[in-house]
Amino acid sequence: MPDLFAQPVASYARVAVERGIDRYPDGLVYAVANDLADLVAGERVMVPLGRGDRATAGYVIEVDAEPGRHVSAVKFVQRRDDAASRLPPQLVTLARWISQYYATPIGVTLAAMLPAAVKRSVGLVRRVFVDRVADAEEPPRLSPQQRAVLATLDGLPADRRPIEIKSLAAEAGLRSVSPIRRLAQRGLLTTIQRTGVDAAWADHAVDAAPPPTLTAAQRQVIDAIDAAGTDAFSAHLLYGVTGAGKTEVYLRLIERTLARGKSALLLVPEISLTPQTGGRLLGRFPDVTVAILHSGLTAAQRHQQWTLAAHGAASIVVGARSAVFAPVPDGTLGLIVVDEEHDGSYKQDQAPRYHGRDVALRRGQLAGCPVVLGSATPALESWHNATMRKTAQLHRLDDRAPGLRLPRVEVVDLAAERRMRPGKHLLGPTLEDALRDTLDAGAQALLLLNRRGYANYIACPSSGCGWVMHCEGCDVCMVYHRDRRLPAGGFVRCHHCQREQRLPRACPDCGRGIATLGLGTQRVEEELRAKFPVLAEGDTLARLDSDTVRSARGLHDVLERFGAGIVRVLLGTQMIAKGLDYPGVRLVGVVNADTAINLPDFRATERTFQLVSQVTGRCGRAEGPRRDRAIVQSFHPDNHAIQMAAAHDYPAFAAAELEDRRLCGLPPFTRMARIVVRHRDHPRCVALAHALAEGLTPLVPPSVRMDGPAPCPIPRLSDHHRQEVQLIAPSAAELQRVLAAARNAGVLTPGAEMAIDVDPVAVL
Ligand code: ADP
Ligand code: ZN
Repeated sequence: MPDLFAQPVASYARVAVERGIDRYPDGLVYAVANDLADLVAGERVMVPLGRGDRATAGYVIEVDAEPGRHVSAVKFVQRRDDAASRLPPQLVTLARWISQYYATPIGVTLAAMLPAAVKRSVGLVRRVFVDRVADAEEPPRLSPQQRAVLATLDGLPADRRPIEIKSLAAEAGLRSVSPIRRLAQRGLLTTIQRTGVDAAWADHAVDAAPPPTLTAAQRQVIDAIDAAGTDAFSAHLLYGVTGAGKTEVYLRLIERTLARGKSALLLVPEISLTPQTGGRLLGRFPDVTVAILHSGLTAAQRHQQWTLAAHGAASIVVGARSAVFAPVPDGTLGLIVVDEEHDGSYKQDQAPRYHGRDVALRRGQLAGCPVVLGSATPALESWHNATMRKTAQLHRLDDRAPGLRLPRVEVVDLAAERRMRPGKHLLGPTLEDALRDTLDAGAQALLLLNRRGYANYIACPSSGCGWVMHCEGCDVCMVYHRDRRLPAGGFVRCHHCQREQRLPRACPDCGRGIATLGLGTQRVEEELRAKFPVLAEGDTLARLDSDTVRSARGLHDVLERFGAGIVRVLLGTQMIAKGLDYPGVRLVGVVNADTAINLPDFRATERTFQLVSQVTGRCGRAEGPRRDRAIVQSFHPDNHAIQMAAAHDYPAFAAAELEDRRLCGLPPFTRMARIVVRHRDHPRCVALAHALAEGLTPLVPPSVRMDGPAPCPIPRLSDHHRQEVQLIAPSAAELQRVLAAARNAGVLTPGAEMAIDVDPVAVL
């Protein structure tokens, strides 16, 4: 018997350890000695782990836990760790919910919640600012350097004060900051500690346009959301056409929240974290500390921003998906807004595979505050919740903001366009003419093609051969990328595993020359430069896709040049479809609306509708007599998603699509979990899938449908074979029961060989 009872046990705590995060799905139970009896959930502690009792960091996820059967094996929590990275208890509750709902070990969940820099406690940089103390008396004996500091400070314009201590030293011609420190010690200067804000954003805080007068419709929405109660949970769906002024509604709701002394959390899709959103927010609330969390930050910046939120210093937190885990102290969160709630980037594609919107709703329940989801193209789940299940209140903004008109959308038949003008053209005559008119009129255009590279199909042109270039490790076609610096003029890349190769000179099967077919933004770029002299060189044409823009800074630079009118045509993938609000845009062209239509995914139609609606909504944002145009090229011009997007008729689209889903027994009428097993070895993969299905079968009640095992639509990715089993249940609760039973029975073992995706948004 170990000397466990040498010290008295005050209680037991469940701790999620950071090491071995997959091995202990629900954490480990430790004894708590008397001196740590006040431990609370969310605290970081050190615990002994393994045979060597190696001190390991972890988070307390439950106090007063059941000791379990093996009390004699229980070890003691050693000590509290870093108080700075303590989690609010509500976040721990949220983590436990995610861990259960998304069938993910608690350690993995916590690891995803916390920025790595926070866990390692690195990178926190404090910047010290100083200013004059208003009525301090100046002592007679000051050094020349101290006098220089005060004179410099007094000479600064008001908007540059307080000033960072290092900048002041530099301006006063000092080599060290110690004279400034001494002035502070003598009570002549105040010091203010701040954690830095990403410069790319700070630059944009300046243009604080005066808030517009709300329209009656906007006011109604705000009042209705307020009327639901500001200190209790309520869920709202704000459906407003593109340009309806939804952002203005968010800003006013945030303003009211701050006025009540609470803080607000604003979630935006990863890519639309553009300077525009940030600038509008900072411009509207110049005196408020805003914490910004997104993937473009360095580890140190992330830590700074996280800490701002954790200390309650930031009244507004804005960020992408993972900002839903911002450590806003319990009791202070007053509002959560999820902008563009339909966006696919809210779903994390690795464990825990959580949906940021759904977690936001859960967090709102825990915090007891309203959660507002907004979109011009709500996810069918959200629309269903608001219109049929009534678990959320529906608010509508049916018209664009005053003076703005939705564009006239024309769907053109690509087959007919080709007959009008033979040859290889990605832009048909209609779109080409419209673009010429737009450029002649001095206006700007956006062109969307949701496909990167030059050609997405590399094949042997001989009809008798049929060779197509596939990735060696994935069952997908290789994509040709042009690069004039390379001897062959380009290379081929797999868009899944990023494998690259040279473009073969000849067909490996029959030796003939090779054809590069299909679409890509690079090819559109080439065509535009060839056809439009003003776009031929320089900065007038910009391509925006993940090949050209790799950082938040890069995106910011392109958009800045577009906003300034230097860039006349912005061509890109779905990156350009979201959130941009530039009045100079008078034409939107969709080069090919069909890129998603035929994917073997039940959300293909919904995604096509969203993409076409969102991108066409980027024009018609200037007041004036002329109505802007959007031209959508398609080989399926009669497709109902495209037609209804052109008609700006989301409700009709949703009604039709929901009816289809109902008939097919698909979400949102059912709940789905997808379990994918993967292995390098094909027989092993099949065996794993069969074992999974066999293990699940006795646990699945008649009301739940189990499909599979079967190969995934893409049967091999990154050298791994993939098989899947789908569970389709009539309700979330029933799905959860099966998943819990399967976890307890050891049938579900999430990890490298098995991925569990609850409420999947993509099923390839
Ligand atoms: P959404 O987020 O719904 O697409 P935005 O909030 O971006 O729409 O609004 C579109 C444009 O209309 C913005 O430039 C915004 O400043 C402007 N706007 C919003 N509300 C009003 C209003 N009440 N009066 C005048 N302009 C407005
Ligand atoms: Zn590949």
